[in-house]
Amino acid sequence: MSTVINLEDTWCAHNYHPLAVVLVRGDGALVWDEHGRRHIDMMGAYSAVSHGHCHPRLVAALTKQAGKLAVISRAFHTAPLGAFAELACRLTGMDAALPMNTGAEAVETALKAARKWAYTIKQVAADRARIIACQGNFHGRTIAIVGMSSVPQYRDGFGPFPPGFDLVPYGDAAALAAAITPDTAAFLVEPIQGEGGIVVPPPGYLAQCRRICDEKRVLLLCDEIQTGLGRTGRMLACEHEGVRPDGLTLGKALGGGLLPVSMFLARREVMDVFQPGDHGSTFGGNPLAAAVGHEALRVLVEEGLIERSAELGDWLMRRLRGIDNPLIKEVRGRGLFIGIEFHPDKVDARTVCEGLARRGILTKDTHRNTVRFAPPLVISRALLTEAVEGLRLTLDELAAAATVTA
Ligand SMILES: *Cc1c(COP(=O)(O)O)cnc(C)c1O
Repeated sequence: MSTVINLEDTWCAHNYHPLAVVLVRGDGALVWDEHGRRHIDMMGAYSAVSHGHCHPRLVAALTKQAGKLAVISRAFHTAPLGAFAELACRLTGMDAALPMNTGAEAVETALKAARKWAYTIKQVAADRARIIACQGNFHGRTIAIVGMSSVPQYRDGFGPFPPGFDLVPYGDAAALAAAITPDTAAFLVEPIQGEGGIVVPPPGYLAQCRRICDEKRVLLLCDEIQTGLGRTGRMLACEHEGVRPDGLTLGKALGGGLLPVSMFLARREVMDVFQPGDHGSTFGGNPLAAAVGHEALRVLVEEGLIERSAELGDWLMRRLRGIDNPLIKEVRGRGLFIGIEFHPDKVDARTVCEGLARRGILTKDTHRNTVRFAPPLVISRALLTEAVEGLRLTLDELAAAATVTA
């Protein structure tokens, strides 16, 4: 075994099960392992590396700000934060932003905002506010967040969980309408479920949810940590249905593939529930993170990465749907955010990922026996072609092996 893998195995917690490859360098959509072998990154760090690895403009923004002022806390004002928040709000149609670091923290911020809005604006009785989420959701790993998960492994052994959460089936607007009570503060939803297996809801779902939330005076909170910032071919995935949420979480690609940067954005009425001292984060909105986040948003727009995701995504979807292989059950997604689901009785998604890795194509399986393709948005059509060919060959091999065993 590689000494690097051995060291990690000995000294790190075993809360992940990585593929047996040791990566040392990245550039755009490519990464290199310890043996100097080139791989195509078809996972983009779960969408955190939409700008590609070590984007020169982002590395420049990082090093420039790092040499000037990096961390000072929110006890003082710094120049990068306001400018970063302004651009994030302008690009998403929101009124105000609250910077955090990880996605889970942004979601926690959204939950706190929704509860306080329920008590102070909607006049829900003290400690009665409820938040509705969806079955199959993924919003992070804190105790409150896994408390609203429907995935047993995320919850088992970690209870008790905070009360006040309800689950409804994803993609079922009638179920949402039926679950709302006068105490409901918010509905939290991913426009496409990412970790849940790249699950695309029926057309019109989000627009219907918007209408229901408006009618019943419930906040619509979209978790766009994975689907936002161009991943699905629009700045926000909820734009596909012309929906503007009341609150929004961003993360992952917001850090330009360099730093953890997240944000809760909202309409003014919602954000204004926070008073000084109500909520915060030592590192949230630090000048280094804000400078990198600001440049990440600019690069996204100025380099046309959103249009690129839409165009290359359509093309990739057609190519993947053109693969004729009995192991494939369904190909679904939007933009450069595509899941390839396999028949669970025929092959394991992890086996497919191991086969792809041997051909220098890196990605990871997700729920529902699905392999995810979410490469950096800067990827070239030539590399995508190579990835599709690699998948075709891998599946041919696996299908032939399956026939021989059967
Ligand atoms: C990844 C993810 C999160 C959590 O982000 P972390 O940075 O890992 O805490 C939350 N919501 C969605 C939709 C995600 O994909």
